[in-house]
Amino acid sequence: MYEGAVQDLIDELGRLPGVGPKSAQRIAFHLLAADAADVRRLTDALTEVKLRVRFCEVCGNVAESERCRVCADPRRGDDVICVVEEPKDVVAIERTREFRGRYHVLGGAINPLDNVGPDDLRISELMSRLADGAVSEVIIATDPNVEGEATATYLSRLIGPMGLTVSRLASGLPVGGDLEYADEVTLGRAFEGRRVVGS
Ligand SMILES: [Zn+2]
Repeated sequence: MYEGAVQDLIDELGRLPGVGPKSAQRIAFHLLAADAADVRRLTDALTEVKLRVRFCEVCGNVAESERCRVCADPRRGDDVICVVEEPKDVVAIERTREFRGRYHVLGGAINPLDNVGPDDLRISELMSRLADGAVSEVIIATDPNVEGEATATYLSRLIGPMGLTVSRLASGLPVGGDLEYADEVTLGRAFEGRRVVGS
């Protein structure tokens, strides 16, 4: 336990995902020893991201205006929507350069243990997007773990009866992991080899 400000910093850092108490302490002391200018860049970046970045009104991706870069791009196809859990998954799939359609970011996955149900995700927004008939295929690219699979099953049952092709990324992705941890080649192949799960 440290005094006031140092302990406050350790507590705040410790609330970040993946940062345990030891890491929080190490980062705090790193910042204490760092140049004021370096720390200022970090605090500026934190302030700016909260001021400038919001979520795309169409797909839920991070955006600096009403629509994200993908939704604002007229060269992207409107007939295929790739459904992912988080904005970081959009980045991972964009890196593969395999996909030229649009995205839909759910904001997580169904997880009963964490009390995350379908209503907590952007599923009704997805259904509204599918209602206008422009979309012919939905690619479900949730993470290859239990929550991602449960979400994919839920979505394919919901969307299948609408007469759209529903596909799921091919196996070969590291099971139990996050989509973002797959390398570009593996993810690209999983995209190409996607299998239809409902129609
Ligand atoms: Zn968007």
